[in-house]
Amino acid sequence: MRPQTSGKRHKVNPRLQNYTESMKIHIRFYEELNDHLSENQKKKELLYEVQQSTTVKDAIESFGVSHTEVDLILVNGDSRPFSYLLKDNDRVSVFPMFESMDITSVTLLRNHPLRERRKEPMAFIVDLNLGKLAHFMRMLGFDVLYDTKLRDDELLAKLSKEQNRILLTRDRGLLKRKNVDHGYFVRSTRPTTQTIEVLKRFDMMNLVNLCSRCLHCNNPLQSISKEQVLEELPPQVAEGYQTFYFCPHCERIYWEGTHFEHMRSMYHHLQQEYAREHFLAG
Ligand SMILES: [Zn+2]
Repeated sequence: MRPQTSGKRHKVNPRLQNYTESMKIHIRFYEELNDHLSENQKKKELLYEVQQSTTVKDAIESFGVSHTEVDLILVNGDSRPFSYLLKDNDRVSVFPMFESMDITSVTLLRNHPLRERRKEPMAFIVDLNLGKLAHFMRMLGFDVLYDTKLRDDELLAKLSKEQNRILLTRDRGLLKRKNVDHGYFVRSTRPTTQTIEVLKRFDMMNLVNLCSRCLHCNNPLQSISKEQVLEELPPQVAEGYQTFYFCPHCERIYWEGTHFEHMRSMYHHLQQEYAREHFLAG
């Protein structure tokens, strides 16, 4: 049950009701975390009433905001971890990943704030129902684990953790799993807008590297000379193209043909939309 803006009781385990008094918590979400709230909850202080000791993580997630999107929690002005037990009249401020402020010294949520991941090469794991997004991201050269056999939420979460991959999904429940450290709820429903959304969110536009990753198995492509692949090429391809790439894993051969042109025009389209959104935002 989602909490209301005021007055409504939060559902609790009835067995625990007698142990503690009702507590009133004041909670406010900042920036894009408001995307998860209903219209009457956005950008305002919300009253959250509980009758038992609750962690700040549970309180935040009961509003539909996944802990993976939260990079800093202040309670009464002090930074607190997810495990912090709320007290009556606590004032909680919840912040997303900061774009331009280093909070390494103040956040208690992880060893490294989300923003710091940008210094590492980005790696993703994409939920089953976002196959087009996975495809577009590979086109742009990003390391994206996606497999239609990965149907189990538990396994997706486990792989995300083990391989340090950011989990992209439209399933809020999946992001609430404890072992998901780095995940992102994709807002948009259109694959191209989803791609732009992810590029913006993780500041990846200048990391694009077209024709560098196998669209089928996600392995980095290698350049290969025409002579080495000549025998395997259809005659019109052998005549028309000079530059070739090879996937050492699945042995597919790529050349800068119509498919590449499609990638390039899609990339230009993304750049235009990206620039337009930045212009509108600025
Ligand atoms: Zn391959």
